[in-house]
Amino acid sequence: MNSYYLWTIGCQMNIADSERLGAALEQMGIQQVEKAADADVIVLNSCVVRQGAEDKVASNLAWMAPLKKKQPERIVALMGCMVGPNSDDLVRRFPYVDVFMRPQQFEPLLEMVGERTGVDWEGCVGPLTPNRPDVTCHVPIIHGCDMMCTFCIIPYRRGRQVSRPVEDVALEVETLASRGVKEVTLLGQTVDAYGHDLPDQPNLADLFARLNEIGGIERIRFLTSHPKFMTQEIIQAVADLPKVCEHINLPVQAGDDEILDEMRRQYSRADYIDLVGRIRRAMPDVALNTDIIVGFPGETEEQFQQTLDLLAKLRLDKVHCASYSTRPGTIASRTMDDAVPEDEKTSRRQRVDSLQEQIQTEINAKLVGSYVEILVEGRKRGKWQGRTRSHKLVFFEDEAYHQGEMATVKIERSSPWSLQGSLAVEAKLLNPRGDD
Ligand code: SF4
Repeated sequence: MNSYYLWTIGCQMNIADSERLGAALEQMGIQQVEKAADADVIVLNSCVVRQGAEDKVASNLAWMAPLKKKQPERIVALMGCMVGPNSDDLVRRFPYVDVFMRPQQFEPLLEMVGERTGVDWEGCVGPLTPNRPDVTCHVPIIHGCDMMCTFCIIPYRRGRQVSRPVEDVALEVETLASRGVKEVTLLGQTVDAYGHDLPDQPNLADLFARLNEIGGIERIRFLTSHPKFMTQEIIQAVADLPKVCEHINLPVQAGDDEILDEMRRQYSRADYIDLVGRIRRAMPDVALNTDIIVGFPGETEEQFQQTLDLLAKLRLDKVHCASYSTRPGTIASRTMDDAVPEDEKTSRRQRVDSLQEQIQTEINAKLVGSYVEILVEGRKRGKWQGRTRSHKLVFFEDEAYHQGEMATVKIERSSPWSLQGSLAVEAKLLNPRGDD
């Protein structure tokens, strides 16, 4: 048993889980391979937030059946949100899968691999930190979620909120810094609720302060925030601490109060507008992203217009818009009728996207001629790419090697999605935060 193949779909939490499971397998002497057919251990890390993702997992699982038949001693594992507390149905549908693991539940697989290889996994697997991290790395700080948004399956699959202690996170970030990581993104479904479940109740601002001291780390990001938990103390910490980036992902989901109530989001439109105002007063150059769901059960055209109106009024930096789809097991699936026709949902999504494209075109165009500081993450299509503190994607061309460097770029062209520029030979940092 020498090799493993790991396929991941879904959010950053899943990517972080896969990185950590990969680290554990490598500590047991098993190396990653590119093709499932070459692997002794096959792991699919699943997502069920949208039907499309779940269908993709099921179709990939079907591909694993002949591989298992050909080499029965091979281990096939299914991990992630597709695995609920009861996996009976999955066992019936995919009888060739050897092990089912809920998110972050790595032990069943490690135990099985340990038994097959004669390795005591508990003795050889240390802290689960990615072995070969990129310049930027995700660090989960909360697992699970205590909210009960009616459309969401995550609390049922990932369980209740469990925060990692401050020193545990700090130790991981120190290890990542020693492996060349320059930027960490702290992850949680409601990242700003960090610490509420810990005995001494540290909060996200306390964690920021501790991580801000760690040498080698240049930037700290965090997602996803929930408007209900974004306190003034956290806002002030983002504004004050030099390494914490002024970039907040703050899903509003809808602009109409009745729909927000039906979603059980626990804030109103006015609360959200007030919160955005307070954040912008503390950090005029902040970048704010949001998520929107269109076509929620019962959403009328007038209610949808409230969402469009909110986006036009707030002019946020980025919007991720999705059409509502019923997820079995959610409150909405049991109590609401998914009545908005699919073509209407598509039309609403297109109207959000088109408005937002116009807003982003205008925001990014204002950056042309300015100098921004980016962390260079790597190369794409022959160009170096990196991000500003406000998470704007910047490309530049240069012969020299720049990965992992902080570079100053003069912006020459813009699109709604990215910025193009050239390396400023004489660093002329007009605005270190990357906004106008
Ligand atoms: S806050 Fe709501 S949408 Fe986010 S993970 Fe929790 S239940 Fe789901």
